[in-house]
Formats: sequence, structure tokens, C-alpha cells
Amino acid sequence: MLSAVLRACPAWLENGLISAYFRAKSLSTNGFSGTHSESVTIDLSKMKVQILPALQDNYMYLIIDEATKDAAIVDPVDPDAVYKAVHENQVNLKKVLTTHHHWDHAGGNENLVKKFQHLEVYGGDERIGALNRRVKHGDLFKIGNIDVKCLETPCHTTGHICYYVTADQDTPAVFTGDTLFAGGCGRFFEGTADQMHNALINVLGILPDQTKVYCGHEYTESNLKFGLHVEPNNEAIKQKIQWAREQREKKQPTIPSTISEEKSTNPFMRVNEPSVMDHAKQSDAIATMATIRKEKDGFKG
Ligand SMILES: [Zn+2]
Repeated sequence: MLSAVLRACPAWLENGLISAYFRAKSLSTNGFSGTHSESVTIDLSKMKVQILPALQDNYMYLIIDEATKDAAIVDPVDPDAVYKAVHENQVNLKKVLTTHHHWDHAGGNENLVKKFQHLEVYGGDERIGALNRRVKHGDLFKIGNIDVKCLETPCHTTGHICYYVTADQDTPAVFTGDTLFAGGCGRFFEGTADQMHNALINVLGILPDQTKVYCGHEYTESNLKFGLHVEPNNEAIKQKIQWAREQREKKQPTIPSTISEEKSTNPFMRVNEPSVMDHAKQSDAIATMATIRKEKDGFKG
């Protein structure tokens, strides 16, 4: 519906409409001043990650290097909330890490660069607002002493980038936007099952098992419901769905997950498992990926 209206609009009107649409959706779910989740901070020794809820079910992430107090923000769709978090933490916001060009991820970039001077805006797609650091697979940069590696994961959009973040002995983290969700993956808007298979199995799937996964949306509960439909006997999914329900009742995020948890609970990372292939009635992993994505698109739970 929204996309049909947008095809007929000039760009300036399009941005206004998208903004109004997402804010109306958020208002209907969270009320005037509410957010969908509490803000939670994951405090490691060198690196701190503050989870910032936005819109109806999006997450932004403030990454802080404890030594220098330099910081970066992932997908800052709500610039006011970012501004507040930066001031509360008394950090220097230097960088914006954009996963992809969709409005609910990149829609705050233009405003944010007006609030903060000299911001470096990273991303892998020219459609990203205020982009001034175009990156590709394997590119490296730093947030203070923290190392960031760019991982191209095209499929949800052609220019989608995941950011793999490491700091000395701290547990690594990966910011996966709309490629990998806890229990699921993004829709294949601009790509194929082959590409999502490559992203999940060959790019993200080879990261260390303990890597914390910070994704773009709070979709975990409904994703796990689908996972249990695919694998009704998967004990790891049964346990996690119970935990996710308890978290959501308390308005707590179900983020971060880990690569290891995803390998045991996420059907899209389990397309090589006989149980998932059997459900899809396929004998190879890429056809299984295509089949279960199509099924999930129409899944009502
Ligand atoms: Zn998206």
C-alpha cells in the first residue's frame, strides 16, 4: 500500500510520507511518549553498547570506546534520542554506521549531521542519506581504539553492510541490520536466496560463535514461532521462545543474540540441517532457503 503511493511521489514528499507512516505506526503501538522496549547497556571492559529502541520495533545502537569516549551510532533513525544518549553518556559522537538505505534505518542521517559537526557517515549504498564514507567488503576503520570491519551482505538490499566490531579481549559484536535477525532474516527485496545463503552461512556464519548479534528489529518472538513451525522438535527454540516471551512482557529487548544461538535456533542459518530441508521438501540448502523465506512471508503463526 505505502509502496504504491510512493511510486507516484516526488522525493521530498516521499520522505515526508514515509516519516509520517512510521511515526503513526509507532504511535499506535507505543503511545505518545512510549518506546517498544527499555534501553539497556551491554558493558564490556573496552567497549560499551547501549541499545536504543526507536519507532515501532527498530533498534539503534550507541557503540562507545571506553578509553577515548569516542562513539558511533548504528542506524540513527531517531536523532533526538541519539542526541540525548550522547549527552547522558558524555561521549564524542564521531561516526554513523548505516546498515542499509531503508528509511527506518537511514532516515535520521540528514538531521543528525546537522546536530553534530564533522560526522563520518558510513554505508555501502549511494541511496543512504548524508553518506560521506562509502565502504565495501573488508574495509576497516576505527571507533577510538575499537576495530570495525565491513561485511557486504547484499539481498535485503543490494548495498547492505554488516559491521563486525572487536576490541582487544572483549567479546566481538556484529551489527546485522535487516540481514540477520534473532531467529530470522530480512526479506529478499533486492536479492536472491543464493545471496542470503552466502550472507548467513559464509559471511556471518564463520564469525566466532560467541559474537554478539545486534540486529535492526525486535522480531524475535514471531521469528521463533516460525522456527518452531519449521522444526517442532527443536529444544533450543522451545527454550528461547519462552525466554523471549518473558523478556517482552517486561519490555526488555531480546537483543543481543549470539552467532552460536542463531546456529541452533534460526531456521535460515540452519538450511543445511536435514530437519529444515525435510520441512521445505528440498535437498539443497539454497532451495531450502528460498522455500522457507517464501513460507515465512505468508506465515501468520
Ligand atoms: Zn530494511
